[in-house]
Amino acid sequence: MAARRPQLVAQPVTFTPYASSRPCSARCRFCSETLADGGAHAAGLRPRADYFDRLRAALAALRGLPLSYSLSGLETTDDAAWMLAMLDALQEHAGRSPVENSVLYSNGAGFAGSVGGRLIERLHGFGLDWIELSRHHFAAGANQAIMRFRDGQTIAAQACFEDTLAQLSRQLVVKLVCIVQQGGVADLASLKAYLDWAAQQGVGAVILREFSQLGPTYRDNVTARYIASARVAMDDLLAACLADPEFTAHSRLRHATSGYYFWNVVLDFRGMEITFEASDYTRMHHRHDSGRVYKLVFHANGNLCSGWDPRRNVLLGTEPAPAHVTLMRASRSTNEGPRP
Ligand code: SF4
Repeated sequence: MAARRPQLVAQPVTFTPYASSRPCSARCRFCSETLADGGAHAAGLRPRADYFDRLRAALAALRGLPLSYSLSGLETTDDAAWMLAMLDALQEHAGRSPVENSVLYSNGAGFAGSVGGRLIERLHGFGLDWIELSRHHFAAGANQAIMRFRDGQTIAAQACFEDTLAQLSRQLVVKLVCIVQQGGVADLASLKAYLDWAAQQGVGAVILREFSQLGPTYRDNVTARYIASARVAMDDLLAACLADPEFTAHSRLRHATSGYYFWNVVLDFRGMEITFEASDYTRMHHRHDSGRVYKLVFHANGNLCSGWDPRRNVLLGTEPAPAHVTLMRASRSTNEGPRP
């Protein structure tokens, strides 16, 4: 048997049970799951029969290590049965081991379906801290040109999205996520219109994100070309806001963060929390390959990895056979980030 190799884990560290039990209900033009950096794709893996046994085994191996749950991957709500079973496993673990907070990243599709109410109830009972709900434009047509929900996904329609948002907001804290881009929110005028719409919906927080910087390891494919052509620089958008007398008259700095591969600036604007955020995948990969654990992802192949590649930096699993590791806490660092 191989000797156990200690691994330092940056604190706080997020744990993601990567949702990939079925293809995503949307096909966002910028989706990072369709970028090609030479690594294996987590999105194409489907859970096997022993998935939940292996998820529980991975969580048992992490017992005692403080975690935050970051529920993402493809669309978690697309498969209600998988989602509910996954939440059961995570809640069991939280009863035995410290879990600091939990966030769900969603396009909202499953909440608009027949079991939407049940999913919302379950998340409320789970103690979810907040949901980051993606909507990249305030008008359904422009949003659909970006998100491209599949046929039959009712969340694509304006009224359905707004009703679902209201239903979610009654039981959960909702933060709207808008990836800024040409054709969507791209300048001060469209940003103000988005914020007006969000305020009309009673939303208390909006997160504005720039496409992550990709770097040279990413192949020139259709997604990378879209990102290159539609990119809106977050620092330009923030500068435009700060140069606008109407915006600055009603805004106040809450805080700014420099994370392990991102930065953000959080403002209060007319009582709404607005986050301006940008990130860099080259820095993220560099950190994930550094030998220190910054991120924990449980993939559908049963591997617990310290990154998004289901066959790389494997801490526990069988594909390929991993080194035996012991997880140890490192000192706290700023380790929350825009890619969940
Ligand atoms: S909702 Fe998320 S996972 Fe689905 S296509 Fe859009 S970015 Fe990708």
